[in-house]
Parts: sequence; C-alpha cells; structure tokens
Amino acid sequence: MSHQGIRFSTQEEHNREALETRKLPRIALTPEKVRVLLTEGKGLEIDWADGHRSAWAFNWLREACPCATCVEERIQEGRKPGQPRPKPAALLPMYAPPAKPASAHPVGRYAIQFNWADGHSGGIYSWEYLRRVCQCPECTFSEAETRGTPN
Ligand SMILES: [Zn+2]
Ligand SMILES: [Zn+2]
Repeated sequence: MSHQGIRFSTQEEHNREALETRKLPRIALTPEKVRVLLTEGKGLEIDWADGHRSAWAFNWLREACPCATCVEERIQEGRKPGQPRPKPAALLPMYAPPAKPASAHPVGRYAIQFNWADGHSGGIYSWEYLRRVCQCPECTFSEAETRGTPN
C-alpha cells in the first residue's frame, strides 16, 4: 500500500509541476483570429492556431492587467488575474462603470495592448499570457481538477 502511495504522490508532483511550467506548443500560442469586440463592449476573443478558442470580458481583462503595478497590487491583495478587487463596504452601492478600452492595438507580433477608458494602458497582454489565463470551461476545469483532491 505504501508503495502505491509513493508512486501516487510522485505522479501528483509531476502533474503540479506540469501545470505551473506547462510548456505550450507554439501552435497553442499563435492566434489565428483576434477579435476585439469594442463597439459591443464585450471583450476579446481569440481563435488559436491549434483550434482552441478563448474569450475574456473586458472587466476580466482589466483586472488581469499584466503590468508591474497591477501584478504587485494583486499579489498584495491575494487576488488572481481577473479577480475583481473587493468592493468597499458602503451604505450606498457605488456605481462602477464596466471596464472598457477606448482602443486596442497589437504590440509587435506577440501581444495586444489596451488603452482603458480609465486612462490605464501599461499592460501588455502577450498571447502566451492570454492562453495561460484562458477562461473556457475546458481550461478552468483542468486547472481546478489538478488543484483539487485526486480520486
Ligand atoms: Zn496595469
Ligand atoms: Zn481554454
């Protein structure tokens, strides 16, 4: 039994490491189609060269800004990329307009940059970053499954 246990934990270690340093093939990091749904105010959609499809709402992307300031802020507040900041406890609910970029443009061949309506524009969203934070059920499920207790 103990032998099996050892073998099992080794497998787990391997899985965890594979997730963290998950090397994605080039084809998984190459966008075939990038759609910024600016006028609809919806978000970003990418069709990848490997056939995978990702979509993010602008609100999510704003909270996942990869610039040094935002990353630092998220680490300090213990937030994951895309996780909204805690709302201050107020008697009157404050209206926060949904995040929306005024414009978006490609950065070289490897990233996209948003000029957010709130004036922030420091974040460069590389294809690799975006693919790693894909929010589709398939990607979020496999992440939860690896984190959860195995059966
Ligand atoms: Zn930022
Ligand atoms: Zn996905």
